[in-house]
Amino acid sequence: MAEKIAAYRFERLDQTLSQLNREDCAIIAGGTDVMVLHKSGRGVPLKIPKPIVFIDHLSELKQIYQNQKDLHIGACCTYSELLEHPLIPGSLKKAIQTIAAPAIRNRGTLGGNICNASPAGDTLPLLYVYNAKLLLRSINGERTARISDFIQGPRRIQRFHNEIVAEIILPSILEEDSQVVFEKVGNRNADAIAKVSFAGFIKISKDRIDDIRLAFGAVGPTMVRSLDIEKMLVGKPIPLADADIATIVAAFEKIIRPIDDQRSTADYRKTVALNLLRYFLNQKHDQTNSFS
Ligand SMILES: Cc1cc2nc3c(=O)[nH]c(=O)nc-3n(C[C@H](O)[C@H](O)[C@H](O)COP(=O)(O)OP(=O)(O)OC[C@H]3O[C@@H](n4cnc5c(N)ncnc54)[C@H](O)[C@@H]3O)c2cc1C
Repeated sequence: MAEKIAAYRFERLDQTLSQLNREDCAIIAGGTDVMVLHKSGRGVPLKIPKPIVFIDHLSELKQIYQNQKDLHIGACCTYSELLEHPLIPGSLKKAIQTIAAPAIRNRGTLGGNICNASPAGDTLPLLYVYNAKLLLRSINGERTARISDFIQGPRRIQRFHNEIVAEIILPSILEEDSQVVFEKVGNRNADAIAKVSFAGFIKISKDRIDDIRLAFGAVGPTMVRSLDIEKMLVGKPIPLADADIATIVAAFEKIIRPIDDQRSTADYRKTVALNLLRYFLNQKHDQTNSFS
């Protein structure tokens, strides 16, 4: 006989937060990662070792709005909802279109992709170059955390058991005169987990680089980003000199350390990651918003 587990589905966020404060529970948003993680066999019910709390229906976690120049995205917005929304940037929509297939996009959420903290999570390189911040809520109040601090390693996040990620904040995104690109290399254009992914953000002022951010996915335990390497490019004239590009590629070569697994080899991942970087740095970065 199947084991019974307690499951909670409250009407309001404050009731949900009270429950999380009373008891350590497994949060389920879309469930597309949780269901896979806890499957115990074909046709056998899931084995989840804690009571579960559903959050995907909570309207407080599904808002998308602008606050001055920042964009706030509710953690429980599904990918399909994000694809439909006019405020969501094109680069994020491009990344979402590569995720799974429509059925999963109808369930999977942005908050779930972050909290699952997979090295191959497709929205993560972009969220890193957008300098995303997370708004966490508990019965004690709220706090914000940078995504790069929140994600500690594969499936490791800095969340207290009574907290929920309520919003993802993309700072200054609605004022930035920047170009942002996303590239994913997998076995096919969608419904494939990334072998390598890359996001690049560049802002140019008077033909010089004002701000540049570079992040790689699936080539380390978390996203690979280096503020020190990015600083080396600030102030450089565009187009970049070959020597500058070679210096940056060599610097990333030292810190990108992928692994071999069932999806790809370390060699392939590293070569492709550096090729994507070289290609991005070689672009003229005029009016285009994509280099694919
Ligand atoms: C067939 C298939 C294909 C897939 N393809 C891709 C792909 O191409 N690219 C990709 O990146 N991913 C892919 N995924 C993984 C998954 O769909 C995504 O990571 C999705 O964003 C997870 O969201 P969810 O709402 O379903 O998360 P859930 O499964 O509900 O939760 C994931 C984790 O996050 C926690 N959590 C969720 N929301 C919150 C919150 N607001 N606050 C605190 N904790 C929270 C949960 O407790 C759990 O630990 C695929 C999954 C499947 C089954």
